[in-house]
Amino acid sequence: MSDALRELYQEVIVDHGKRPRNFHRLEAPSHSAEGFNPLCGDQLRLELKLVDGVIEDIAFQGQGCAIAQASASLLTLAVKGMRQEQALELFARVHALLTEGPSGQVPTEALGKLVVLAGVWEFPLRVKCATLAWHTLRSALAGDTTPVSTE
Ligand code: ZN
Repeated sequence: MSDALRELYQEVIVDHGKRPRNFHRLEAPSHSAEGFNPLCGDQLRLELKLVDGVIEDIAFQGQGCAIAQASASLLTLAVKGMRQEQALELFARVHALLTEGPSGQVPTEALGKLVVLAGVWEFPLRVKCATLAWHTLRSALAGDTTPVSTE
């Protein structure tokens, strides 16, 4: 990854970490889940409104490091309006990106703006911060009410 690209990715992460989008509660969520990353102390609650298999609205609340907040913020922007199964496909792609790195199986074009998360892969200790929201999303869609832990 070039330095310019790395800088750009960091800027986006810092921006979303400081000013997370869709950071509020939903009025009548149909699905929700909580996630914890004990390694870093990140915690979040994800709420979504699923209507006929489409994620019509999604929001989160919680506290954590910039990467956890940014990843959750980017997640909400990415999956809003998606069908449930598309969101799960995206989960699989993001998970692969974060665990295999940008030169892995996943074409970065398939990730859209989420490609900025590729920068996190270079910091193995932060990977769980970035995957937390995604595991929580999968759990919420599955209707699983057990809090998600990355450990
Ligand atoms: Zn963290």
